[in-house]
Amino acid sequence: MINAAQPIIGDEEREAVDRVMRSGMLAQGPEVAAFESEFSSVVSGLHCVAVNSGTSALHMGFLAAGVGPGDEIIVPSFTFAATANAVALAGATPVFVDVDIDTFTMDPAAAEAAITSRTKGIMPVHLYGQPADLVALSGIAERHGLILFEDAAQAHAASLDGRPVGTWGVASSFSFYPTKNMTSGEGGMVTTADVEVARRLRLLRNQGMEKRYANEIVGFNTRMTDIHAAIGRVQLTKLAGWTATRQRNAAFLSEAITEVVTPPTAPGAVHVFHQYTVRIEGHDRDAFAAELMKRGIGSGVYYPTPIHRLPSFALDLDLPVTDTVAAQCLSLPVHPALSDDDLQTIAETVNAVARAGS
Ligand SMILES: *Cc1c(COP(=O)(O)O)cnc(C)c1O
Repeated sequence: MINAAQPIIGDEEREAVDRVMRSGMLAQGPEVAAFESEFSSVVSGLHCVAVNSGTSALHMGFLAAGVGPGDEIIVPSFTFAATANAVALAGATPVFVDVDIDTFTMDPAAAEAAITSRTKGIMPVHLYGQPADLVALSGIAERHGLILFEDAAQAHAASLDGRPVGTWGVASSFSFYPTKNMTSGEGGMVTTADVEVARRLRLLRNQGMEKRYANEIVGFNTRMTDIHAAIGRVQLTKLAGWTATRQRNAAFLSEAITEVVTPPTAPGAVHVFHQYTVRIEGHDRDAFAAELMKRGIGSGVYYPTPIHRLPSFALDLDLPVTDTVAAQCLSLPVHPALSDDDLQTIAETVNAVARAGS
């Protein structure tokens, strides 16, 4: 059986947790501070504020940038629900737009067409590790006086035109959930170039306090623990190697898979292949996945239901590309633990199932 995803936890991670446990300081402390300063190398030295999840990172990012009730934030509907949940949790309204069929990321023309007098910001998602069209989207944000946010939960160390994701928006969010390209167990990071936004983030995650018991604003407890930060610090040292392996695995699959639509990388983009997602045309996708499973290949559907159609939002919108990709997308194993034989088997099995007309 070849698994769809596989977190890689080694002795160093275990030793790092043990070190923190022995120190007796478990909550946010020196490990979190070190993780923040080390992660800033991924985002050209920007301010990094660690929190307890990627969802909290998005939520705190909106609040720190002044997003609230009455504001609209433009987001893709083809994403994980956390993207839109975070907008709603900040008191704002997610406005769902369509995606580009090749990159699965926000369609800039659709985003521009959705701007109203209430629009406060635009938040593309770097889905599967492919940067959204940040050049077009930051241009649109600038022309209309909007704030650009980035949901970079799946895109650690991806970049466009040499500029890392997480450095284009006023606030950008990463996730360290176990299936992401690197993990801290649970965790998230907000990155920003704005020192005032960074300060508000530090207040918001810690009950509004910078100085103990001198609470300046109403805040949350969304702190990361030193235990999680210690895991994240070790994983960060492995990120570059794992990313290179994911990219090599993806290149192999794109060469060898001939019978379904393989994912192109946009010009100028460094895609970090959190997922390797093909489109299954002319077959029932779920039957295709079941047939792969029967032949020992795990796969995943991210995401079967567009967010605007979920009971939590239940909006009647016409987003045809979103509906198409939600019906056709299938993520194949691409994680760094795959062997050359695994990759060969994946490609041959996908081609065979497609030819058999599953
Ligand atoms: C994982 C993910 C999140 C949320 O991160 P958590 O750490 O699970 O809270 C947000 N957006 C996207 C696109 C994700 O993949």
